[in-house]
Amino acid sequence: MTDAPKLRRLLSWARGFIPPELRRDPVTHRRSQLALGILGANLVVGGALLIPLAMIREPELRRIALVNTTGSLLLMLLGVLFMRRGSLWLTGNWICAILYAGFLFATWTGGGVRAPFTICLTLLPMLAGIISGRRSGLAWGLITVATLTAVYVAQATGVELPEVNDPEITVLLAFGAIAGNAVLITWMTSFSEATKEAAIVQIEQASAQLASAVQEEEKARHAADQAIAANAAKSAFLATMSHELRTPLNAILGYSELVVDELRDRGGNEDLIDDIRKVHASGRHLLGLITDVLDLTRIEASRLELSPTEFDPARLLREVAEIFIPLALRNNDVLTLDLADDLGPVHHDATRVRQVVINLVGNAIKFTRDGTVTVRLRGDPDNFEVFVEDTGIGIPIDKIERIFEPFTQVDASSTRRYEGTGLGLAVCRRLVSLMGGAIEVRSSVGRGSSFTVRLPRRYTIPEHTESVTTSAF
Ligand code: ADP
Repeated sequence: MTDAPKLRRLLSWARGFIPPELRRDPVTHRRSQLALGILGANLVVGGALLIPLAMIREPELRRIALVNTTGSLLLMLLGVLFMRRGSLWLTGNWICAILYAGFLFATWTGGGVRAPFTICLTLLPMLAGIISGRRSGLAWGLITVATLTAVYVAQATGVELPEVNDPEITVLLAFGAIAGNAVLITWMTSFSEATKEAAIVQIEQASAQLASAVQEEEKARHAADQAIAANAAKSAFLATMSHELRTPLNAILGYSELVVDELRDRGGNEDLIDDIRKVHASGRHLLGLITDVLDLTRIEASRLELSPTEFDPARLLREVAEIFIPLALRNNDVLTLDLADDLGPVHHDATRVRQVVINLVGNAIKFTRDGTVTVRLRGDPDNFEVFVEDTGIGIPIDKIERIFEPFTQVDASSTRRYEGTGLGLAVCRRLVSLMGGAIEVRSSVGRGSSFTVRLPRRYTIPEHTESVTTSAF
C-alpha cells in the first residue's frame, strides 16, 4: 500500500471521532475538524517531544518535563472524549486550558515575559474564538492579557522568577515557539477564510432557493387567480344556461299537463296519457336537477339572496310530511311527526328551509323500505332543530363526510338501485350554513341514519356577506 491511501485511511479514521451532530452544518463540521486537528497535533508533537525530554541531563528538570508533558497528553485525550459527546464549546476551552497551563509554566520557569513560550499565549484567544465561539475567544483574550500583565508586574516589582533553561537552548526554543506560532496563525487565518467562503456559498445557495420559492409562490398565486376567474366564468355560464334550459322545460311541463287534461276530457287513450305523464315526470326530474345546479352555483358565487319572513316551523314540517305520504306508502314506510308545538315562529327564508327538509325527508324515504321515518322538531330560546331519522340502509362511516360533496353518492355504480344526482345534500349543507346553521349526520349501515339541522331562530345577515341581488328565474 502506498503512503497516500494510508494517510487517507488514517484521516478518515480520525474524522470518525466527530459525532453526527457536529457534522450537520458545514461550519460546525469545519470547527470540529480544526479542534480534532489541534488535539491530534498536540498528541503527536507532545508524544515525539518525550524522546528529547528524556535525554535532559539534569534529573530534576527531566522529571518535571516528563511528568508535565505526559500529564498534558493524558488531559488532551479527555478533549477527544468531550468532542465525542458533541460539545465543541467544552472541547475548545479544554484545549485552551491545557495549553494555558503549559505555556504559563514555561513562561514562569523560563524567565517571565521574555521566556520563549510567552508568545504562544497569544494563540489562545484565536483558538478559543474559532472553536468555541466569540465569547470564549474574548474570555481567553482577557485571561491572556491579565496573565502577561501579572507576570510583567511581578518582574517589574522585583519578584525573582526561576530561569531553568540553558541559554543556548533558549535561543532554539524561542525560534521554535515563534516559528510554530507563525505556522499556527497562518493555518487558522486560512481556516477562517475558508469557513467564511463556505458560509458565503451557503448564503448564496439559500438566497437562490429563496428566489425560486418566491417565483413558485408567484406562479401558484397566478394559478389561483386563474382558477378563481375560471370558477366565476363557470358560475356565470351555468346561471345563464340554467335560465335558458328552464324556460323551454317549463313550457314542456305546462303543455304536457295541458295535453293530459285535454286527452282526459276527450275520453282519450289511456296508453297515450300514461306516456305523456312519463314525459312530464322526466321533465320534473330534469327541472329539479337544473334547480339544484343553479342553487349550488349561486351559493358558490355568493349570488343567492335569502328572503327571511316569520313562519311556524311545525306547520312547515306538517306540510312537507303531507307531500311525502304517497311515496312513504309506496315504500311501505311509516312516516311519523314528533313536533314541539309550543316552539312559536322563527324568522328565516321559509322556501329554503322547506327545500332542505324536503331533501332530507325525500332521501330518508328513498333509502328506507318497510321501515320508519321520523321528523322531529325541538328548540330553545335561541335555536331550533329539525331531526330527520330513518331505519333505512344507512351510510358507511368512510363515506359519511363525502355525501355532502356535489355529485357524490354512496353507491355510484351504474347498476345502483336508487335514483338521484348527488346534489341534494351539497345544496342543503351550503344553504344551512348560509342561514347561519349547521347540518350533522349520524348513521350506521343497515340500521339507519339521522340528519340534524340546527339553525338560529332568527336569521341575521353575516357582516362579511355582500347583499347581492339574484337574477330573475
Ligand atoms: P341523491 O340525489 O343521490 O340522493 P344527495 O346529495 O341527497 O343526492 O345524497 C347523496 C348520497 O348520500 C346519496 O346518494 C346516498 O348514497 C346518501 N344518502 C343521503 N341520505 C341518505 C339516507 N337517509 N340514508 C342512506 N343514504 C343516504
